[in-house]
Amino acid sequence: MEGLIFDIKKYSVNDGPGIRTTVFFKGCPLRCWWCHNPESQEYKVQTIEVSHKLEEKVYSQQKNVGKYIETDDILSDLMKDAVFYEESDGGVTFSGGEPCMQVDFLVELANKCKKKNIHTILDTCGYASISVFSALLPMIDLFLFDLKLIDNNLHLKYTGCSNEVITANLKFLSQHKANIIIRIPVIPGITDTKRNMDAIAYMLEDLPNRVQEVHLLPYHKIGVNKYNRLAKQNPLQDIESMKKEDTIQLGDFIETKGFKVKIGG
Ligand code: SF4
Repeated sequence: MEGLIFDIKKYSVNDGPGIRTTVFFKGCPLRCWWCHNPESQEYKVQTIEVSHKLEEKVYSQQKNVGKYIETDDILSDLMKDAVFYEESDGGVTFSGGEPCMQVDFLVELANKCKKKNIHTILDTCGYASISVFSALLPMIDLFLFDLKLIDNNLHLKYTGCSNEVITANLKFLSQHKANIIIRIPVIPGITDTKRNMDAIAYMLEDLPNRVQEVHLLPYHKIGVNKYNRLAKQNPLQDIESMKKEDTIQLGDFIETKGFKVKIGG
């Protein structure tokens, strides 16, 4: 089976433990204002214009974003780095976009990875039907689960989707003793408010099983140029990147609730 992928990044060290290969799925149901991968959002191949400067002259060229790839082709690529995964306790991370949007492809690929003893991580926004997470439970070793905003009106405003499905899926995974790391994008004035952090901490304390860790991801501007190339408006274009130090207080607060916190992915 083939799926729509927009990138495959080797030797990644920020998408879970050890040395990993991150497979970026194209298509996402959310439209977060702070998304630094806007090219991941549409579930279709897109053409963008990229420019290169050579001796003061600027050259432009068209480039396709997104490619259909067979699970077997991805697997054979992954197997080339099996020795790195073994040595570092790494593996493969399915990211995006939202991998659950291509659930049949994801299930087939994750199954093939498990048969080869490759450690699997799903980096997810949590927005999919519960049956999708039920199908994935046996073949995903660790879920990197994004939590953004607990107030549903704010979630709708800043992501375009309700968070009810997301929080229900988090509870479902916790009930089934899945390994979970929570990732919170720290966006100035949007997700970093005391009210939101209190509500997130309360929700995490209320889960039937403790999450392994909480990761705070400070906002950064790396996706800004991508918005221009896609002719999309960037709602946060005037907001500056945050430094790790800016999130230390939030991290301290979450730690007082008994959670292990890491700043950055
Ligand atoms: S869930 Fe992730 S990929 Fe999807 S729009 Fe939000 S930030 Fe972008």
